[in-house]
Amino acid sequence: MQNRNYQLELDKLIASIPEGVRPKLLLHACCAPCSSYTLEYLSKYFDITVYFYDPNISPEEEFFKRAEELKRLLSEMPLDGAVSLIVEDYDSDEFYSAVKGLEDLPEGGQRCYVCYKLRLERTASLAAERGFDYFATTLSISPYKNARWLNEISEELAGIYSVAALPADLKKRGGYKRSIELSKEYGLYRQDYCGCVFSKRDRDIRVKSRGEQ
Ligand code: SF4
Repeated sequence: MQNRNYQLELDKLIASIPEGVRPKLLLHACCAPCSSYTLEYLSKYFDITVYFYDPNISPEEEFFKRAEELKRLLSEMPLDGAVSLIVEDYDSDEFYSAVKGLEDLPEGGQRCYVCYKLRLERTASLAAERGFDYFATTLSISPYKNARWLNEISEELAGIYSVAALPADLKKRGGYKRSIELSKEYGLYRQDYCGCVFSKRDRDIRVKSRGEQ
């Protein structure tokens, strides 16, 4: 099967928006660094509500630290159009029940697929409930995230919830590099593990083995 170019698909979609129209986008966000470039780019075309729904993050203090950093970024970064923020309540049980039995898998495996779907499903459902034109996530900006999975899950959910998914592979066109530049510019906290307790465990093992070499 030929690989799809989600960036090109997004280019075409943006080009098809009539002049003077700014569709409403519900943008799931995992953290401030990944949101920085995504907002710089997409706020040119969409009125965005950023949706911080990340029950995967552990420990709880880390969840609030990332949420606060996102809030700060939104208050400091000059953006085109209206951008607002919803921070969902923290309920890690939602994540632990979803990934039960997948705890020991490495990052990038099936546990991550389920974790993407959990967050995207809540985003799609809220987008439909509140009448957004599109939903999307910042997650595809990371070279560690599977953009094909993210787009396939989004398309499936778009069909279920009757709300359009924005095709995206935000790391393309230097998106990841730009997010690092913006993170430096705004002094953003950049975490060194994906988010869940299992990715933190694997990070700790890596750090320890480097220290003992
Ligand atoms: S490693 Fe990241 S994407 Fe995978 S399950 Fe953990 S938090 Fe979710």
